[in-house]
Amino acid sequence: MTFRFVDVQALEILDSRGRPTVAVTVELADGSRGAAGVPSGASTGTREAVELRDGDPERFGGSGVRTAVGNVNTEIRELLMSRRWESLGEVDSVLDFVDGTGTKARLGANAIVGVSMATARALALAAGQPLYEWLPDVGRSPRLPVPCFNVLNGGAHAPNALDFQEFMISPLVAPSIAEAIRAGAEVYAALRARLAASGHATGLGDEGGFAPNLAEPEEVLAVIVAAITDAGYEPGLSGVAIALDPAASEFATAPGRYRVNGVDLSSDDMIERYAAMIDAYPIWSIEDGLGEADRDGWQRLTALLGERIQLVGDDNFCTNPTIISAAIDDHIANAALIKLNQIGTVSETIEAMAVCQRAGYGQMVSHRSGETPDAFIADLAVATGCGQIKTGAPARGERVAKYNRLLEIAAARPDLPYGPPAP
Ligand code: PGA
Ligand code: ZN
Repeated sequence: MTFRFVDVQALEILDSRGRPTVAVTVELADGSRGAAGVPSGASTGTREAVELRDGDPERFGGSGVRTAVGNVNTEIRELLMSRRWESLGEVDSVLDFVDGTGTKARLGANAIVGVSMATARALALAAGQPLYEWLPDVGRSPRLPVPCFNVLNGGAHAPNALDFQEFMISPLVAPSIAEAIRAGAEVYAALRARLAASGHATGLGDEGGFAPNLAEPEEVLAVIVAAITDAGYEPGLSGVAIALDPAASEFATAPGRYRVNGVDLSSDDMIERYAAMIDAYPIWSIEDGLGEADRDGWQRLTALLGERIQLVGDDNFCTNPTIISAAIDDHIANAALIKLNQIGTVSETIEAMAVCQRAGYGQMVSHRSGETPDAFIADLAVATGCGQIKTGAPARGERVAKYNRLLEIAAARPDLPYGPPAP
């Protein structure tokens, strides 16, 4: 079955950080409409698809997206409305081809990914299916993912002294997604109380986690474990465990050199420190434990800790199927973070997940620090059966939109299992 576009439009809107981003709506000839809000990151990998910013200092300090919006409203609109299309895959690959740069730098990854997401939604509607049923699986049946709630923020996401960017709690074992989300919210509340009781500010970072003035990652781990217990949950792999995203590229001073709370560390020092953290705290996953330029360090990290925990590549993988394939051959990491706007189309995102799946690599679907209420990633995580999603704290509208969408899906599909997929 082919389809035709009768309308394609974009608008410059604000993201959750007050920065401009792109919103897209499309309409198909059968009247099916789809909309999308485009996410945007702060700690970005150098090989991510290129987000087009206007660079006009007179508007939003140069971060306006009128050029990307204009590209949707003119060139992309004309192209999409000029012919019939066979599939989302065809739309995505023609947009990438017409862009011509290989990095989506001309039309803008923020323009292209918005069109791709909105088109997926319209096609799901045209097929009479919810998005999580219409999107393809990647070799696993659909399931409700473990939510990884980012409860404490540092790094590029908060103005505190903490170099590690994200401390997440994951209810690995829970009777249902609703109970997992309840656990996340209850631990978050217990953490707020604990921080307040010890005189810490309970202001929030970009992803809704608290941003107290703690500087050592181990101090944070201790307070989170205490909050899990305060809330009445069991810290550990059979209850609520901890996932980290240090986002080490942000505190790398050179390839293989790091500076944590004023102390210079080598890759091996970092690996040793992670090993000690895993011994002392219930950590099940570490993302970007080393910087994207530290290939040798990543290989040693994977060799030493890859059997014990999940090691997720984000800045070094960029949701790019080609880069991930090469990393798999190089024995780097054992899972990938999955962000639509890092690669710039829905089809390539799913291809990246399929590459991981075939190699036995895990996949964690992810939001960005700049978000909108768009909950596309909730459907993506369910459809692909990847079993894990990180989308910020269990607080703030743009974050809970995703968790609430998971609750909606669970209510509509009580047959779907919850939790990490069997290995
Ligand atoms: P970003 O951070 O969205 O600011 O890039 C998220 C992450 O590093 O996982
Ligand atoms: Zn990351």
